[in-house]
This record gives sequence, structure tokens and C-alpha cells, in this order.
Amino acid sequence: MAKLQAIRGMNDILPAQTPTWQALESAFHRVVHRFGYQEIRFPVLEQTQLFKRSIGEVTDIVEKEMYSFDDRNGDNLSLRPEGTAGCVRAADQHGLLYNQQQRLWYQGPMFRHERPQKGRYRQFQQFGVEAFGMAGPDIDAELIQLSADLWRELGIGSALTLQINNIGASAERRAYGAALTSFLEAHSDRLDADARNRLYSNPLRILDSKNPDMQDLLVAAPALADYVSDESVQHFDELKSLLDSAGIAYEVNPRLVRGLDYYNNCVFEWVTDALGAQGTVCGGGRYDGLVEQLGGKATVAAGFAMGSERLVLMLETLGKEPQAPRPAVYIVVPTGFAKDALALATALRAELPEQIILSHCGGGKPASQLKKAFTLGARYAAVIESDLLEQGKIKLRGLTDEEGFEEQVPVDDLPRRLAELI
Ligand code: ATP
Ligand code: MG
Repeated sequence: MAKLQAIRGMNDILPAQTPTWQALESAFHRVVHRFGYQEIRFPVLEQTQLFKRSIGEVTDIVEKEMYSFDDRNGDNLSLRPEGTAGCVRAADQHGLLYNQQQRLWYQGPMFRHERPQKGRYRQFQQFGVEAFGMAGPDIDAELIQLSADLWRELGIGSALTLQINNIGASAERRAYGAALTSFLEAHSDRLDADARNRLYSNPLRILDSKNPDMQDLLVAAPALADYVSDESVQHFDELKSLLDSAGIAYEVNPRLVRGLDYYNNCVFEWVTDALGAQGTVCGGGRYDGLVEQLGGKATVAAGFAMGSERLVLMLETLGKEPQAPRPAVYIVVPTGFAKDALALATALRAELPEQIILSHCGGGKPASQLKKAFTLGARYAAVIESDLLEQGKIKLRGLTDEEGFEEQVPVDDLPRRLAELI
């Protein structure tokens, strides 16, 4: 019978890779902790309506990427394609938003039915951060600073560039969209299929088309910057000056519009050329209208999400993966000494709680057990030998070159002796 395989675009993450994932996760946890953000968890399944009403009906995600289905009750549900909608739904449902300030973070799998390729999968992991109830550019700058701090912590800051843009309020974008549509209509013969589809429904999305022909055409197009209000220009200028004073470099990219409809005013992305086509590792911005749009009381907000797979790929590409953890002690256990080994391992783990203590299981000759200890890169072997054990002793061997020694240690002293050595 043919073996079953994982679903295309949904990856298994194997033990060789999990240390890099864990390093990323713990760096993220350290950074959000020191910025005072609190974790929120919400389901991977929500009503499809939630995503349609937040992300926007005419977006790639809602039009073609969602995993939607009717459940056994006939309710139309979707696997979450991103976290902001669920975060807002959960925070509002439990009364965390109105008249309050919240700094929240989440992590977890997201699902989009895209064409799988390097850095683009159908199940992928995001970390996200959302801040509610703070209207000024100060919180936008804080969010960007938080992300920059994570890059520093991971050692990948020099490979990332911050792009920012001011996309104004939705009414301003609508007015601009109309102008953009008229401009593009006049060049309809040069539009690609995607642009033609978006021409009336979501013309701004044409701005971030990856097709070079579209980019050439857009050079002469009207500029969004000419349509945004003085108020949002001022907000954006203040953000830029905050970033300047924090020493965070940025590029203003007038084509940056983001693929989700709920953003307004300043938006940003961190991009890299270390990954080929899938160069955006993190994106976000303000979304002041979303809470109200989803039925809550008006609450301003801003946030971002980053893709873990792309960050892991970056860490690997730039050689920043952590070293594979190696056992500190390997206990060699001759047949009949399982109880002694168990007691010894327990004592060692109590004394050295951060270290890996492996006790040999499955029998076999002491020599082949030792070989295993070498193969695993263990630093020490604690070798149980029946005649020594009768005298209450155990043989301790150093397995690395520098530590190539052997001594007999009273069993009860072994934890303390190893604590000295390690
Ligand atoms: P892209 O333009 O690359 O499709 P996006 O604008 O759809 O990205 P967002 O919805 O802003 O992406 O998601 C934030 C981040 O999540 C992205 O910057 C990326 O790092 C990651 N991401 C998005 N879609 C995927 C995917 N299918 N596979 C892996 N990571 C993804
Ligand atoms: Mg996308």
C-alpha cells in the first residue's frame, strides 16, 4: 500500500531543524517580554465572515487562499489565514479593548492555499504583536523598535531593510484608487491579467504587483502621497523623526500598500534579499478602523506579523543557527544495572538541571554503548562497572580531547564532581 504523505505545502519540522525554531521562539519571547507585551491565544478556526469582514472581500487571501468549509452543523468556517482578525475578535469579545490600552502578542500556525515554494507554504507559522488604544506614532515607533530588537537578538539586523509608507485613511485611498483606475484605464492594453482583475475592485493592489511591466507603467501613475490628509502626513513625519532619533534606518516606499484592507496611515515591511523572491519577513501597520468594523466600539490599533519559516531560512542562510545541543553525560549501563542507572540519572538531573543526561537503554556491550556516547558528542561517560559499584564507585570518563581523562568517583559524589567539571 502506498504510504501517506503530508499535505503539499504543509511541512514537518524535524529534530535537526527544531533547535533553530526554538532559538527563534525564545528570542521572540524574550523581546516581547521586555517590551511588556502579554500573550493571547485564540482558535485556529473562526467563522469565515470574520476574515471576510476584516481582511477584505477583494484580497488574494479571501478570494483565493482561504481553507473554508461547512462543518457538520452547516456553519461556514475557515482556518485562520492570519492572526489580527482573531486577536481583535477575542480581545473585543472579552472586553479587553474599549477605553483601555493593550499590548498583546500571539504565535501559531496560519493557513493559506497558495502555490508552495521556498518561503511560501500552505501551513506556516507567524508571530504577531498588536497594540490597542494608542493613537500616536509613538506606538508605531515602539512596534518597529521591538521588531528591530528581535533582529539584533537573532544577529540578522544587517540583512534586513525597513520600508515604510503612508497609505492614509480609507476615504483618501478610495479617492486615490479612482484616480489610479482612470490612469490605468488609459493604458488598459498594457495591463496584465491580474491588474485587469483588480482595476475596479482593488486598484491599489496593482501598486505592489511583482510584474516588472506593471512597475514600469506605474512610474507615471498618480501618487498616493498627493491624496493623503495633512493629519496623516503629520503622523507619518512624526514617526519618521522618532525612527531617526532611535537610530532605526528606513526607506520610504511609495508602492508599499500591504495585502490586507484593514491598514491605514503608516504601514511597514522588513525585507531581505537573502531569500530570493519571498523577501518580506515581517509586515504591519496601523489599523484604526478594524475593531469598529468588526462590531466593537471604536478603538485605535497597530500591529505586525512575521513569518517564522522565512526567519528560520534567514538564520540558516546566514549561518546563525544554534549549535545542536550535546549530551553532558552518557551513562553506560551493563545488563542488570537498570535500577542503578535510573537512580544515578535522577541524581545527575537534579544537580545539573540545565544539562542533557542520557542513560543508555536497550542493553548491549559497554564498548558499543561508549561508541554511541562518542557518536552523540557526549562530554562525559559515567560507566557503571559491577566490581567498582560493589565498592560504591563509578568510572567517570571525559570523552572530548581536552577532557580525555578517567577517574573513579564515589557514586554519591558524582553529581557534585560533574557540576565542578561542567
Ligand atoms: P507576501 O506578499 O509574501 O505574500 P503577505 O503580504 O501575504 O506576504 P502578510 O499577510 O503580511 O503577508 O503576513 C506577514 C508575514 O507572514 C509575511 O511577511 C511572511 O513573512 C509571512 N507569510 C505570509 N504568507 C506566507 C506563506 N504562505 N508562507 C510562509 N510565510 C508567509
Ligand atoms: Mg500573500
